[in-house]
Amino acid sequence: MNNTCSPIIFLGAGPGDPDLITVKGRRLLDEADVIVYAGSLVNPVLVDGVRAEIHDSAGMDLDGIMALMVKAARAGKKVVRLHTGDPAIYGAIREQMHRLDRENIACEVVPGVSSALAAAAAVKAELTVPELTQSVIFTRQAGRTPVPERESLQNLATIQASMCIFLSVSMMDQVVGELLAGGYPAATPVAVVEKATWPEERIVRGTLADIAGQVQASAIRKTAMILVGPALGENDEAASKLYDAGFSHEYRSGK
Ligand code: SAH
Repeated sequence: MNNTCSPIIFLGAGPGDPDLITVKGRRLLDEADVIVYAGSLVNPVLVDGVRAEIHDSAGMDLDGIMALMVKAARAGKKVVRLHTGDPAIYGAIREQMHRLDRENIACEVVPGVSSALAAAAAVKAELTVPELTQSVIFTRQAGRTPVPERESLQNLATIQASMCIFLSVSMMDQVVGELLAGGYPAATPVAVVEKATWPEERIVRGTLADIAGQVQASAIRKTAMILVGPALGENDEAASKLYDAGFSHEYRSGK
């Protein structure tokens, strides 16, 4: 490790609302000398007024981004690579970290609020409802980026868990087709949240039977999260066992 460089920070910006970055993330942005961020997804308000030199990675390729960050780190600058949501989810940080390894430059990852969780909050959903499902799947429809066949939406649908489907709203017909083919009933609730936590946030709710038409009509084409599964139901009676009077747990004995 090169001890003269500060580690390069891969930082989760959160879903959009600038108040939804962590306190640590806010401090790192304010202290940074160089910030590289994807202007297409990260809210630029986050970097308003910072003292750092700012680069939008939208028009840059991986080589260009890496060269810029390595040079700045070697010059003793504090570098922050700002990623939308949480960097661990479709953040493409692995390839960047491998390259930094080869250059002997240390890095750290600081988490952020993923858009999956921001979307769940927007529709006030609990994704893990006892008796309905206790699992959440983060996934995407195969598109230009392939998805291994064993985890196709159709295969994952057989589990009937809650699903947060990224990067797929432009392929809504295919998404619905695979989910139905995999065995979710047509009445399964779906919520599509566009630009969760941004001022222009929009929510479309329906079922697998009608959501594709609703998304088409709303003209939601990108930057949207698809939430699917029995837990998304609005009038669902399944109450958590944790608060059920007949259920004992560590802090209370049941009647
Ligand atoms: N690391 C990010 C995901 C990056 S992939 C995260 O944790 O959220 C980009 C995809 O994330 C988009 O296609 C969309 O599906 C979703 N996304 C990002 N920001 C969003 C937002 N504010 N509202 C809804 N979906 C969003």
